[in-house]
Amino acid sequence: MVLKVQKGNLALIFKNCMETQNRCILGLELVPMTGHTAQMVVATYELKMTGLHKRLGHVLHDITTKTAKFYGWNVTGMPEDSESCELAKAQ
Ligand SMILES: [Zn+2]
Repeated sequence: MVLKVQKGNLALIFKNCMETQNRCILGLELVPMTGHTAQMVVATYELKMTGLHKRLGHVLHDITTKTAKFYGWNVTGMPEDSESCELAKAQ
């Protein structure tokens, strides 16, 4: 059994089937990304300070900068506060 879920150009294909008493459980194989591979992905992707700040969960801008420096990410732009940032701080 194979289950394919597709939206636009992206498709997830569940083809690993583990039999159970009544039916089966479908799964997909995920290939873990090593630190080196992740760095290559980041190197080809322009990171903006505001976007990185949001992805890190609205951490302090100093933490965002230090995280980028630690991983060697080239981050452009200046941090800017937004409504979602204020909501995150209020929680
Ligand atoms: Zn924020």
